[in-house]
Amino acid sequence: MASALTDKLTRLVKEMRGQARITESNVQDMLREVRMALLEADVALPVVRDFIARVKDKALGQEVLGSLKPGQALVGIVNKELAATMGDGVADINLAAQPPAVILMAGLQGAGKTTTTAKLAKHLIEKRKKKVLTVSGDVYRPAAIEQLKTVSKQAGAEWFASTPDQKPRDIALAALDYAKKHYFDVLLVDTAGRLAIDELLMQEIKDLHAVLNPVETLFVVDAMQGQDAVNTARAFKEALPLTGIVLTKLDGDSRGGAALSVRQVTGAPIKFAGVSEKIDGLEVFDAERHAGRILGMGDIVALVEQVTAGVDMEAAQKLAAKVKSGDGFDLNDFLAQLQQMKQMGGLSSLMDKLPAQLTAKAGQVDMDKAERDIRRKEGIICSMTAQERRKPELIKATRKKRIAMGAGVQVQEVNRLLNEFDQMQGMMKKMKGGGLMKLMKKMGG
Ligand code: GDP
Repeated sequence: MASALTDKLTRLVKEMRGQARITESNVQDMLREVRMALLEADVALPVVRDFIARVKDKALGQEVLGSLKPGQALVGIVNKELAATMGDGVADINLAAQPPAVILMAGLQGAGKTTTTAKLAKHLIEKRKKKVLTVSGDVYRPAAIEQLKTVSKQAGAEWFASTPDQKPRDIALAALDYAKKHYFDVLLVDTAGRLAIDELLMQEIKDLHAVLNPVETLFVVDAMQGQDAVNTARAFKEALPLTGIVLTKLDGDSRGGAALSVRQVTGAPIKFAGVSEKIDGLEVFDAERHAGRILGMGDIVALVEQVTAGVDMEAAQKLAAKVKSGDGFDLNDFLAQLQQMKQMGGLSSLMDKLPAQLTAKAGQVDMDKAERDIRRKEGIICSMTAQERRKPELIKATRKKRIAMGAGVQVQEVNRLLNEFDQMQGMMKKMKGGGLMKLMKKMGG
């Protein structure tokens, strides 16, 4: 499950054990992997070069503190630098202006401007208790105006009508006037999309900016755009004084390297992330979490610490060795595994440490229920005799009934556990070492 990068890094972490400092020689391999990871995440090459140089500067000669190994310390430095490059603290929307505070949305067609306008309206209405008006300056696509009308309604915002025969500048002025007269706190202005950078349309949005004097000019960019995001960002940065970035479609497969490039090119903070097509799919951008995503791993240092602190390493290694040597994986081992999962601070806290793309799906799982499940399973195994645990094939109907009674569950639940154990046993044989065990052995062993 862990990405190839995580595997490589943990191996390198292990190789670097016992060295007290980060040096030119021990840092080289590690940085090569980081460089690859950034390129794979679609960070633009010049941005990668810059970043690696900065990390190297910071890392060289650094003493390695406490129980951390140089490798772990370096991963920490990389993560921190990545997060710092993408943002410093939480950057919320600035509304410090004579009302209405105008927010101008800019970006390529399809970037998610209209969707984000409505998401932002909802955010401002619900979280900041503002009265919000939206308007579309897209006079080229009547459908775009209709789309904004629909999503504004979903967001609970008022929508100001515009038609394709009007000039964007006139629409903007009329909406501004209406917003003032009706005491709106915020006016969100959606603009015409352009498929590529187009001089005429760039001029149009520049004019809109001059007329509206917005307190926020947000550049909306699709995270899937990868390398191209750099050129688009540069063009918008040259045309407009951008005050923030919204990175959309982070729910997709992309590792989101565009965040790093766009931030570097524009210098503007990334304020929000779009995480679904739905109207509530907007999150305040979390640079640290995103750093983990770009590297293809979560906060690996925290994970290393948590894993080694919470788990009886000796028991874990014995178990791993046992599976590897082909000695039967029995219900005692199954129980030990369940208990190790609990020791690691619970599933939910472990999930927090894993890369976002791995946990995106798991987010739909109810963690409390998963933990309750583990406890029930423990209860069932504890109701078995030592012999039954070693030879699960002995467990037939009468024994099942007895075990179920002892654990206070239905017989079906005992069956389910035995099935699960069967599957796990098969998997362990195939994996020869087991995912979690392998990971733990590498990190702490
Ligand atoms: P615009 O042309 O810039 O106004 O882009 P739209 O708002 O029309 O969005 C283009 C497409 O991207 C639509 O199908 C949206 O539903 C979709 N979209 C926008 N933001 C997100 C997001 O954060 N996640 C996902 N999955 N889809 C998004």
